[in-house]
Amino acid sequence: MKIAVIGSNNVDLISYIHRMPEQGETIEAPDFRLGCGGKGANQAVAASRLGSEILMVTRVGTDLFAENTIANFKENGIDDKYILRTEGSSGVAPIFVDEQSNNSIIIIKGANALLSPQDLQDARADIEQCQLIVLQLEISLETVYAAIDLGKELGIPVLLNPAPAAPELSLERVKSVEFIMPNETELSLLSGMPVESIEDISNAAHVLLDVGIKNVIVTLGVRGVLWVTAEGEKLIEGNKVDAIDTTGAGDAFIGCFSHYWAETGDIEESLRIANLYAGDSVTKYGTQTSYATASEFKEKYT
Ligand code: ADP
Repeated sequence: MKIAVIGSNNVDLISYIHRMPEQGETIEAPDFRLGCGGKGANQAVAASRLGSEILMVTRVGTDLFAENTIANFKENGIDDKYILRTEGSSGVAPIFVDEQSNNSIIIIKGANALLSPQDLQDARADIEQCQLIVLQLEISLETVYAAIDLGKELGIPVLLNPAPAAPELSLERVKSVEFIMPNETELSLLSGMPVESIEDISNAAHVLLDVGIKNVIVTLGVRGVLWVTAEGEKLIEGNKVDAIDTTGAGDAFIGCFSHYWAETGDIEESLRIANLYAGDSVTKYGTQTSYATASEFKEKYT
């Protein structure tokens, strides 16, 4: 299964602090960690660890973080052919986590903002070999729309994860996607509707179906996922686990769904497995560090 992930990569710079600094204040952080992240990279790593061949189309800068990111892709079996270079900063996310687990995050898009429609044309011959194109919103909307149009032109289904929530996203420009996978907050923003109950969520999903999107798949955290189509809807329950860190759960879910759907074409079964996989990831700390390999996952769940 070959999956094209067209999206972001970031280096997370995580400072563990006692409390947030006041303006003008310098404080010491007792601990620090560097992690690989970015929604595109996370989803690619999850699918690759499960056994998919990934065509990653992304941009890094010319700073020292770029080498770390490229090495991480390679360690996860992802080819660097379309990990393109841009003069300047890579995508970087300084993250501050205090003793009460409150976090403050700053995202510097850096090279991610410069991934362009032309980059997709340059990778076109390879994208053409893929069974699925996976997109998120940490790159420019112009490039997201170009990728959707390319998928349509080449007859390749597109999965759009509309995250982080982008008020300026045009539903009209994304109506040809096969799958849209928002969480509840993103669905509310996209549809302009409340999402308090399952009935609300279903009504909001219909706003997206009405523009022509075929499958609206809403992740609901611990409750699992609601799959809505014009024909009907199905709630697929989450796995009951002892959650300790839910960061990156949505990306684990999408990476896993993409892998199994590309392999089998069975949406419901792929959603059931993705619930298990994302549920497993929340029992471990970190983002990519919490994503199981195919053998680890099989050992636990078969
Ligand atoms: P996001 O991280 O994008 O906000 P969600 O919180 O909806 O996404 O979580 C994505 C998926 O991760 C859920 O659909 C579910 O499968 C799994 N998940 C998240 N939190 C938990 C939890 N506490 N227990 C079990 N599964 C979870």
